[in-house]
Amino acid sequence: MAKVNKGRAYAKALLNELNISGPGDPRSVATELQLDNNELDVQGFDGGLVRVKGTPLAAIIVRDSIREVGRKNFTVAHELGHFVLPGHDMCGAVCGPSDIGNWGDATQELEREADEFAAELLLPSQYAGPRFKSEPPSLGIIQTVADESNASLSATAWRYCDLVSERCAIVWSKKGKVSWYKPSPEFGFYLKRGWEIAKGTQAWECFSGTRTHTSPEPVGAQLWLDERVVLEGAVLWEHSIGLPNYESVLSLLWIKDRIERYSDYDEPETEEIDPYRFDSLRKRP
Ligand SMILES: [Zn+2]
Repeated sequence: MAKVNKGRAYAKALLNELNISGPGDPRSVATELQLDNNELDVQGFDGGLVRVKGTPLAAIIVRDSIREVGRKNFTVAHELGHFVLPGHDMCGAVCGPSDIGNWGDATQELEREADEFAAELLLPSQYAGPRFKSEPPSLGIIQTVADESNASLSATAWRYCDLVSERCAIVWSKKGKVSWYKPSPEFGFYLKRGWEIAKGTQAWECFSGTRTHTSPEPVGAQLWLDERVVLEGAVLWEHSIGLPNYESVLSLLWIKDRIERYSDYDEPETEEIDPYRFDSLRKRP
């Protein structure tokens, strides 16, 4: 059974309580919770939560020089998560860029919880799920929903893979190598961190600056996945865009048809799972 997603559950409960059905505006939610929200000329961290000891009072601080609106909103929502989630009063008062929206690192549990909280607050399942499913998979619909919700592209892409039923994965690569990826529940393949982006992919063309892409295209599946597990000549659909400010490329992979060489359904029944045989062994004194 899947682990309960605490961040998401608390955000859902809060949205419910505040009667919010569309994308949540983290600043007005902060106001509802009587939190001060300040943009300050600070350095060394992106967001912080200052608590007044012995009282339920707190204030959110956000670095005012964060360039993107989506990123700034996500930071406010992340700090709100630290305020709302139980057990978070033990963690540090400030969060650096590597604490917020760092989807590649699952080791910091409280930061991940605050991120999941922020993602649900900005892109509630009930709103974002149907929006995402209104078009075939592409970065276009992800960008549209990100713009509508004032959420960052990477958080929206992460959310996309939580909510769609297609076989999709989002891949973030940096300096020509995979740094993290997020599969949808049905994706069914692994990618490796540190894998070099192969020539022939849209992502490779983004890194080399040779071509930009306005829509998904079919590419050889073996360029992204282990060639030993995919059918010869199989294709998947890829849509990639360059994010030069981060020296990164964001890719959406979409498996439209079956491409795996083997599947669970192909396995022959084996003797080991014969219940009678197991029983007879167990009954032996
Ligand atoms: Zn944090």
